[in-house]
Order: sequence, then C-alpha cells, then structure tokens
Amino acid sequence: ESFLTRLRLTEPHLRSFLHVSDTVLAQANELDEKIKRNEDVGPLAGVLVGVKDNICTSEMPSTGGSRILEGYRPPFDATAVRKIKEQGGIVVGKTNLDEFGMGSTTEGSAFQVTANPWDISRVPGGSSGGSAAAVSARQCVVSLGSDTGGSVRQPASFCGVVGLKPTYGRVSRFGLMAYASSLDVIGCFGSSVTDAGILLHAISGHDRLDATSSKQEVPEFTSQFASTSLLESKPLNGLRVGLIRETVEDGVDTGVVSAIRGAASHLEELGCSLSEVSLPSFSLGLPAYYILASSESSSNLSRYDGVRYGNQAAADELNALYGDSRAKGFGHEVKMRILMGTYALSAGYYDAYYKRAQQVRTIIRKSFKAALDEHDILISPAAPSAAYKIGEKKNDPLAMYAGDVMTVNVNLAGLPALVLPCGFVEGGSAGLPVGLQMIGAPFDEEKLLRVGHVFE
Ligand code: GLN
Repeated sequence: ESFLTRLRLTEPHLRSFLHVSDTVLAQANELDEKIKRNEDVGPLAGVLVGVKDNICTSEMPSTGGSRILEGYRPPFDATAVRKIKEQGGIVVGKTNLDEFGMGSTTEGSAFQVTANPWDISRVPGGSSGGSAAAVSARQCVVSLGSDTGGSVRQPASFCGVVGLKPTYGRVSRFGLMAYASSLDVIGCFGSSVTDAGILLHAISGHDRLDATSSKQEVPEFTSQFASTSLLESKPLNGLRVGLIRETVEDGVDTGVVSAIRGAASHLEELGCSLSEVSLPSFSLGLPAYYILASSESSSNLSRYDGVRYGNQAAADELNALYGDSRAKGFGHEVKMRILMGTYALSAGYYDAYYKRAQQVRTIIRKSFKAALDEHDILISPAAPSAAYKIGEKKNDPLAMYAGDVMTVNVNLAGLPALVLPCGFVEGGSAGLPVGLQMIGAPFDEEKLLRVGHVFE
C-alpha cells in the first residue's frame, strides 16, 4: 500500500509508467493468505517489480513505447517476467522508454516524457528511463530494463540507482522486443547492489525459447555478501582494478571525472591495487555500435508491417498498407535508424560499413579480453555527464549518441557491468548523481556484485 500511495503521489510529476496494474493489492492479499496457510510463496514474495514496456506481459499492454503497438496485449509472458511471477514477485506496471529502446533520454517514447526524480526539468536517461525513475522515486522496489548499448546503465547513473547489465546470454531474451539481437540483454535496477543481485538471480538461466541463452550455472550472486566483513580495513585486498584512461580524458565533465577518481581512490583504500589501463580502440565503439545496432534493427523491425504485428493503416493496396502502417506507427528516431541500417546493409555499402563495424567489434572484444586478463575489474564513468535538461539534445541526435560512449563497448564485447552511485555534481536543487561503471569478465557478475556491495 505504501508503494502504491507513493506511486499515486509521484506519478503525475514523473510519468514513469505507461500502465499500472489494478490487481497489485489483490495479488499481495493472495500471498498473505498463502503465508497464513504455510504455503511456499517464493523468494520474491510481495516484491513490486516495474517492467520496461518492451518486455512482454500477458496481463498488461506491451507497446515498446511505439504507436505501432498501441493496444497490443501479448498472449504470453517474457521468460524473465514468468520467472518473477513464479517466485512471488508482483508486476506493478509497465515503464516508459524510448521507442523500441532507441534513445538515451526517454523523450523518444511515443506517449510521454519521463522526468528525473532528482530534478524534474531533467531527463532520467534512457532508454529504460521509466524503470530507473520508478526505482529512484520508490514507486517500486526493483525493475527490469533492457540494455543494447547502455540503456540500463546510463539511466541508473542519471537517477542515482544501481543498474546491472548481465553478460550476453545470462538472461533469456524471450519476450523482449528485439532491437539489435546480438547486443540486447534484459537488465536489473535496484536501490541497492543486493536488490539488483537478487533480481538477477531470479531471472537468469538457460531457456530453450532463446537459442542464445547460456547453460552456464547461475550462482547465488549475493550469498557471499554476509561473509565479507565491511568492518575489515581492507576487504578487497588483492583485487586488481583498471581505470580505463580514455574514459577520464577531455570531453568528459570535470565533475564526473573527479567523482570517478574519488571512487577509484576509495577502492584503493578498500585494498584494491589500482592502475590506469589504456584501450586505444575505445572510441571506435560508438561508430561501430551505431552501424551494427541500426543494421540489426532495420531487419528486426521489419516484422511491424501492419499485417503480422502492429496497427494497420487503412489502405486499398498492399504496398500502401505496409507503407502507411509504418509511416504512421513509427516515430522519427526509429525511422532514421531503419534508414541508416538499410543503407549500411545494402549491396555496395555492406563492406564499407557493416563488415567494417564487425571487424572493429572483434578488435574491441579482444582489447577488453586482454585488459580483463590483467585486471579483475575495469572501471569508468557510466556517462560523460550527469542528467541534462529535457529538450537539450532532442534535436541533436549526434550529441545524444555521443553520450553513449562509456557504455556501448560493453555490449559489443558482451560483458557484464554494474553501475552504482559514487558521488554528485552540481545541478538541480540537491546535486545530481554520478554513476561508477564496473566491467567484469564474461559470467563474472558475482565478482562485480561483491565489489559493488563492499563499495556502496
Ligand atoms: N542509446 C543507445 C541507442 O539509442 C542505447 C539504447 C539501448 O541500450 N537500448 O541505441
């Protein structure tokens, strides 16, 4: 009840939800009855979970933030949602996003703009801005987002919450609306590292409905937390931390750099050995990402043709029916991405763009592997600035894309990363949060969470 009250009071200012369930209390009461009867209710019993609206839910609409799916109700739950429900979690509603996950501010939703709870004149980040704002404002306990190029980590940073992008394959993508399938992952938001770790455990594991989901064993991510004494003077003794040099150079907000350097010193105080590591290919990630993500999206989004999926425009001829349905259903940014992707994939340009970007992806993957052979974790800012004003970058897509520089490489390499608040910069009435990004080796979320837990 307290969460629902909070949601009712804050939602008119924040607009984080596209849909709120009207059965939350009934589900909670049902769990109470089960508890009275001594029945098993599962580890997430009564935990209110927000779900990004590009993740399918059978009992609620799932629009992906797009007009083309307005009113769509999937006949199934995404695997991550099914697992949450089976473990007693209650889906409180569907959170706002940039259309199909394409954007970094949540201004690209076809329906509404979400505000940052720290300063409602600012963006919450994106594309999972609704999920980040909802946890930040305590409208729900934890939430699911998706991260193709940073969409969990950058909004976590902007909203001062914990954001966890799992290793590619750790969580089933079944029921996640595909944006760029080789990069997409479902990720977790929480107000603590423990909460994010518990949610990750709940949704992880192999799923025969997603051929890319991994058979890797799922550890109890948070089980070692209790054995690490936070009172020990050097609880992280021996841990090798590499600060990525290219992420604290010119072009990054000075307040952000000093918060990250402060966090790095704190890790040293906790016993880590700290060194700077250079990844010369770091800046190649952004152009490679935007070519690959747009290319994959141009293919994935072809399913929204008004016939197989999506709202259908009135037309008396088949090509006009496809054309009008897509012209009316998709927003500007989505159309731009489809055009860029189609261009990059077309005969004559394929070698120069798509193939080249794949080659760059391999170089990036190798350079991260080499750096992670020498270090347990790599650290960087989660974004080059704190949250900016609504409207500030709306008409400047390149400036918005540039803001993803800290996060896209991690998706290109398929690695896990944890973002957690590590300081503030001036702005708003109470300062604006800055997020520290910790990057780990594939399937080593456990280490990231353990370090994050000691650090937080
Ligand atoms: N901002 C990036 C993009 O627009 C990342 C989005 C995401 O991770 N879904 O593609």
